[in-house]
Amino acid sequence: MTRFIFITGGVVSSLGKGLCSASLGALLQARGYKVRLRKLDPYLNVDPGTMSPYQHGEVYVTDDGAETDLDLGHYERFTGVASRQSDSVTTGRIYSNVIAKERRGDYLGGTVQVIPHVTDAIKEFIQSDIQDEDFILCEIGGTVGDIESLPFLEAIRQLGNELGHERALYMHLTLIPFISAAGELKTKPTQHSVKELLGLGIQPDILMCRIDRPLPASDRRKIALFCNVREEKVIPALDVDTIYQVPISYHDEGLDREVLKHFKLPVDKEPDLQRWYDIVERVRRPEGEVTIAIVGKYIQLKDAYKSLSEALEHGGIANNVHVKLDWIDSEIFEREDVVNHLEHVDGILVPGGFGERGAEGKIQAVKFARERKVPYFGICFGMQMAVIEAARNIVGLEGASSSEFGETKHPVVGLMTEWVKGNEVQKRTERGDKGGTMRLGAYPCALKPGTRAEEIYHARTIEERHRHRYEVNINYKKQLEGAGLTFCGMSPDGVLPEMVEYHDHPWFIGVQFHPELKSKPHDPHPLFTSFVAAAVRQSRLV
Ligand code: GLN
Repeated sequence: MTRFIFITGGVVSSLGKGLCSASLGALLQARGYKVRLRKLDPYLNVDPGTMSPYQHGEVYVTDDGAETDLDLGHYERFTGVASRQSDSVTTGRIYSNVIAKERRGDYLGGTVQVIPHVTDAIKEFIQSDIQDEDFILCEIGGTVGDIESLPFLEAIRQLGNELGHERALYMHLTLIPFISAAGELKTKPTQHSVKELLGLGIQPDILMCRIDRPLPASDRRKIALFCNVREEKVIPALDVDTIYQVPISYHDEGLDREVLKHFKLPVDKEPDLQRWYDIVERVRRPEGEVTIAIVGKYIQLKDAYKSLSEALEHGGIANNVHVKLDWIDSEIFEREDVVNHLEHVDGILVPGGFGERGAEGKIQAVKFARERKVPYFGICFGMQMAVIEAARNIVGLEGASSSEFGETKHPVVGLMTEWVKGNEVQKRTERGDKGGTMRLGAYPCALKPGTRAEEIYHARTIEERHRHRYEVNINYKKQLEGAGLTFCGMSPDGVLPEMVEYHDHPWFIGVQFHPELKSKPHDPHPLFTSFVAAAVRQSRLV
């Protein structure tokens, strides 16, 4: 029997609902249950693929090619369960499906309305593509009180009623602020937020209260009384020093026990949380530190590179070091010398990116890393910049560039208008739709024997996730390889360059895919483990 846990948020956004859901998923898993996590986002975009990283943070890509919310990254990292297309939906997608049905005449002339048609579509989505999972955790994006969330809240209210108490649980995440002028914790915003939910017909079963200090018993009693929740189901979610501590802290506060009690499931056996204790221990007690410069564009908002910073941390955990991230806006290299900014770092990483702005600065960072033999990791755009740098500065192709930036005499990076995915030919044009039309999701890649890539992966074929429109131009392969840049990973049909590396360099790898999306704290990605190890060696040199 599959049970459903609905997670909503109140008072303010950014309380860490995604991490909260992921941690509960991990706790239920540690008790031997099979879980899946889903995210329902109330905004009107069909998916976050077309949204600016400044606004929405990173776009997380699944194996099956869905462009989703970054919370799905937390879910995967904490539970190891690979997310799917069916784990993420937005108002935009729900509406476009409903409208497509209406156009086809599926509603047989009926008036199409939010209730029941939109809410039915949401309920259908929540219950679709379920196999033998014990729990489906559904996080509703946004904050209770937003106009956009209403159909989602109505849908989960109806669903809870249909499934019954023993198969549905409502968990609400709120904030208990400390007002320093008064020297007091305030429960009123939580009371209001629960009242808002109640007005929509939802009585939360569990309240998770984000708080920066221990919750006094009297406040806990007060919240329980006013919010109509049992005291033991008012759970403080204290700020912690590392995210891997969250499942442990929630367990200590009784979250998983209360969830199981709600569903009348046995609680006598304690879950095995050893793997979480181990990770926390390693994060808190590193044996050294390395500094990695991330030369990017969207550096004002750290969420824009969420999986990347997580993956670097995993690489640090694997090497027992703390990885310090030095975020550098590449545009600065148009005004200032790279040397001043990069001389002290142990590794340089150019991450994914779009558009011409800042590209020249990234190319300069590549040049610095190549010439000074500083470990370099180029991801997607970062690989494309490495190829442009080699074409210009080693092969001598003046003005070599990417056709993403306009006409160029030497398009060493160009638009792929056609490629094969599985048995299907995928086609794109320059003027086509922007949403969902990139090379997306998992693609196989064959590694060249004897290369560092093969050594790192210990494999001949790998599979990694993609999200890009442009590709390294195969027509320049011979010239680039002649300059020392080996094409160490190719699509199995030999058409698409997937990885490049320099032999005569301590560590220089460019990848067309996004390895950071598959890295997990308990299973760090080999490329990140190897890159951080190279940075450790570099730090001993300087
Ligand atoms: N802008 C480049 C492309 O579309 C790289 C994309 C990326 O780094 N994700 O190919």
